[in-house]
Amino acid sequence: MDGFLLTYDGFEPESEGLRETLTSTGNGYLCTRGAAEWEDADGVHYPGTYVHGGYNRETTILGGLPVLNEDLVNLPNWLVLQLRIEGGDAIRLAEVDLLGYRHELDIRYATVVRHFRFRDRSGRETTLQSRRFVSMGDAHHAGIEWTLVPENWSGRVEVVTAIDGRVSNGGVARYRQLEGRHLNPVSPRTFGPEVIALKAETRQSNLYISQAARTRVFAGDQPLPVERRLYQMEDYIQQVLAFDVRQGAATRVEKMVTFYTSRDPAISDTLVKAATSAARHTDFAATFERHTAAWDELWRVCDMRVSGNERVQLLLRLHIAHVLQVCSHHTADLDAGLPARGLNGEAYRGHVFWDEIYALPFFNVRLPEVTRGLLMYRYRRIGEARAAAREAGLRGAMFPWQSGSEGIEETQRVHLNPVSDRWEPDLSRNQRHVNAAIFYNIWHYFQTTHDQAFMRDYGAEMMLEITRFWASIARFNPERERYEIHGVMGPDEFHDKYPDVPEGGLRNNAYTNVMVAWLCGIAGQLLLPLPASRSEALRMRLGIGDGELAMWQDMSRRMFVPFHGDGIISQFEGYEDLEELDWDAYRAKYGNIQRLDRILRAEGKDPNRYKVTKQADTVMLFFLFRQEELREIFGRLGYDYRADTLTRNVAYYDRRTSHGSTLSFVTHAGVLAAVDPESSWDRFLVALHSDADDIQGGTTKEGIHMGVMSGTLDLMQRNYAGTHVYDGVLHFNPQLPSRLDSLSFSMQFRETPIHITLTGDHLTLAVPPEGASRPVRVAVRDDVRELCPGDQTVFELSRNPATTGPSARD
Ligand code: BGC
Repeated sequence: MDGFLLTYDGFEPESEGLRETLTSTGNGYLCTRGAAEWEDADGVHYPGTYVHGGYNRETTILGGLPVLNEDLVNLPNWLVLQLRIEGGDAIRLAEVDLLGYRHELDIRYATVVRHFRFRDRSGRETTLQSRRFVSMGDAHHAGIEWTLVPENWSGRVEVVTAIDGRVSNGGVARYRQLEGRHLNPVSPRTFGPEVIALKAETRQSNLYISQAARTRVFAGDQPLPVERRLYQMEDYIQQVLAFDVRQGAATRVEKMVTFYTSRDPAISDTLVKAATSAARHTDFAATFERHTAAWDELWRVCDMRVSGNERVQLLLRLHIAHVLQVCSHHTADLDAGLPARGLNGEAYRGHVFWDEIYALPFFNVRLPEVTRGLLMYRYRRIGEARAAAREAGLRGAMFPWQSGSEGIEETQRVHLNPVSDRWEPDLSRNQRHVNAAIFYNIWHYFQTTHDQAFMRDYGAEMMLEITRFWASIARFNPERERYEIHGVMGPDEFHDKYPDVPEGGLRNNAYTNVMVAWLCGIAGQLLLPLPASRSEALRMRLGIGDGELAMWQDMSRRMFVPFHGDGIISQFEGYEDLEELDWDAYRAKYGNIQRLDRILRAEGKDPNRYKVTKQADTVMLFFLFRQEELREIFGRLGYDYRADTLTRNVAYYDRRTSHGSTLSFVTHAGVLAAVDPESSWDRFLVALHSDADDIQGGTTKEGIHMGVMSGTLDLMQRNYAGTHVYDGVLHFNPQLPSRLDSLSFSMQFRETPIHITLTGDHLTLAVPPEGASRPVRVAVRDDVRELCPGDQTVFELSRNPATTGPSARD
């Protein structure tokens, strides 16, 4: 194993959906599931192709009521390539004897490979190897290569190559009652003898999508003459290529595909664009070379190396590759948000939640332009966020819990409980904390990059408007002499209201209130470093008066935080009055109880009654802030922050958390890194395996978990290497897990690349001689050093004061 190969031997119909997700290939512009080219959507296989922002709305009548949903649309299937031998039916996995079958993802180059040896019904034995990639070198290109070897026969074969627009969204079983047709046909067309093309349009959002394919056959590098027959319908186009093959001789089929949508820059007619691009498209080998060069460049910046555990190494790289396949430099210029389930499936309809709070740290220090692009997705939707606040009788900008095309609230009002098969009300839109996350993300992007232009033109405005929203939803309670926030939920989705009351939301979710206290403190200072003209213009345009600034200041000192027992921060007011659950009994009865909410509801019980938490809620605070920061925030609020506040609270909530979102394993692993390294490592491993092993039993086939995949990478850098940026210094507080011998990766801090190598006793930081633009300051605890291009410095991690390596400068 070279740390870059994910392999599945043998074909298992029940695992194919999961494997398709995990062997998806993408480039940050488009992503396609790893379905076999010759299979249709049929319950086992699910070819799916998605692009950022490819949304469409449809209404379904459910129980007589119209339900409107916005979905990320499954686009026409460009994969179709089928083999027919001597006039027989197209070869399918279920209809031949498998003599050998291996399905792989070459992680390094995001290439899906199938080695397939079979005997057909006439006893002919054939080897077919398929390789497929979506080009990281040119966002609009993709390619498939087949190598065919007849083993005991010679004869005539036909290869069907098609683009199929007759697809719908059917990838998630529990959504199947909902309208899944999102495409209208526009036209098929041929361009010359080799290129077929298809244009489709989304039914409501009028997005045009065109794909073109040029399929050729080769013996070695020599094109083979083939007979071509065309068949087309308004939503489907195919060519059948007929040619002779010889026993033992390899014949290659190349299908080179191009892909454009009307949201692309520099575009007129997508169909003509796709076709001309396909005609210019070079062959598989040359396109693949550009693709691999682009990935090599990405790995230089994004790889993470660990020694001491090969499986961990493999899965970290799998996560890096998938995260980059969804968000790469190609994404930065698109109007793209971070879809919670990647572009790999249809769960959560391709919506954007708060998961970027787990993902952006990875990009901030590697591809900051990706973070900037994802934050711009929010900025472009600030108008809708303002309107949403206004409509709720509030001020500022209230970004939605689930966001799609326009930035309006996309959260459903009802959802189907697959355990009980009942439609239940969905109050999760009250997760207003997404607004605190956006604020936090902008702030941390700025801390890492110091991108003043972004802050000046977009960041500050979003932060101020978000603060204003919080100030307007908060109310002053004169009895407590504190500000309170009612009617919202924290990240824990098991509690969306108090039992026995109809209205949604809770009082004083501690996570939210502390975030608000923190952000009010920052917002008050935000205008100061901006150029005077800009800060005045912003104040004028947003109408921010002194009174408002003073109120934010006051909120940063007087937000209410509920406590109970001995120093336990109550997840929300009244939490202590809820009933304890008999966790052991539920574990014994149901085994996996991660989705305890569904189990309880199916038993006719309301999870709101119990001290059961889906995922880190209060514990998020210890994940997002350093201890010193929390001490400062709580101190300012006039609350005790004790040496054991973290450990007591984490232990308390850990016992009451089902980790029904795998994000929770990331959070707990991060928080425990410094205080319980063994337990941290166990949680990290769960998060690391969660998609690869589909630990939630069926969710990964509906899409990867972007937040978890990137969260595991963030754990390496932020919790195990202990990197934090504050006061303009890149700080390290290393906690290398004992199961690893070393950890190394590169980071970019304020445009300066730094290579980091961490072992049990040393932290080595090196700035390459070339390319770095400015000196940066780095530190381990109080030992602050300046690094210039070409410098290397070594911190000793024992009790001895730090020493400096041979080529070092302090
Ligand atoms: C989690 C949310 C998350 C969403 C999308 C839910 O299960 O509870 O925190 O944002 O999934 O990943």
